[in-house]
Amino acid sequence: MENTRKKIISVSNLVKKYGDFEAVRSISFDVYEGEIFGLLGPNGAGKSTTLEIMETLREKSSGKISIDGFDLDTDASSIKKIIGVQLQSSGFYPGLNLIELIRLFGGLYNKSVEPMSLLEKVNLKDKAKNKTKELSGGQKQRFSIATTLINEPRIIFLDEPTTGLDPQARRNLWDLIRQIRDAGTTVIITTHYMDEAEELCDRIAIMDQGRIVKLDSPENMIDELVKNGFERKKQVKNANLEDVFLTLTGHEWKED
Ligand code: ADP
Ligand code: MG
Repeated sequence: MENTRKKIISVSNLVKKYGDFEAVRSISFDVYEGEIFGLLGPNGAGKSTTLEIMETLREKSSGKISIDGFDLDTDASSIKKIIGVQLQSSGFYPGLNLIELIRLFGGLYNKSVEPMSLLEKVNLKDKAKNKTKELSGGQKQRFSIATTLINEPRIIFLDEPTTGLDPQARRNLWDLIRQIRDAGTTVIITTHYMDEAEELCDRIAIMDQGRIVKLDSPENMIDELVKNGFERKKQVKNANLEDVFLTLTGHEWKED
């Protein structure tokens, strides 16, 4: 099935050196249109470097990258128009409320945006007149994801969007990211959380020390491991502490 899908990103032999240190060591992968593609790996694996090179925010040392048919080397400006990049919250002018910020960013992209419909998409209509410093961690992340959608991109890039959030806020964010994918946008996400990658991503590249050590769907990776005779040492319980917490505090949408 995957073979019939269109490749929207193609990365081949990407290398990034910081001085003598090779942070990304000749990695190659493709991303298909309409999928949530995860770069999973521990801190320092090279996830952000890879992401920022694709976002045109960082120079690569060598390799080829093509995004929606545009070559990064010759057509970075065309790539910028079709991608959504998460803005750092430090760039959110403290004096402006959410509506004003969206108008401001829309102006930067030369797009006329309807702030309330964008805020509705990320469940922040109630906070339209608030400033970002008045938002919770989860709300800030949802707003930051909203800013990636301002230019109606074909692809969005999210760098560890759920780090530091509580379980409910993480689940809200996963739902939002799935909605964005289901509306036709390709999502590239980095994470160091295994459960997040397993739950959210259609396919994952596992990165370690600048290399991709495995690339497949989470299901295929797990099936392959089991087929090769892997068994868990201990009987796993049918629930974990997170299940206890969610049961005690409620599964339903909560103010986060
Ligand atoms: P990740 O996002 O997976 O945690 P990064 O891409 O941020 O990894 O970093 C990969 C490696 O490159 C790390 O060892 C990091 O210290 C190094 N690195 C990242 N940015 C720079 C930089 N600007 N200068 C030098 N080394 C860097
Ligand atoms: Mg990182």
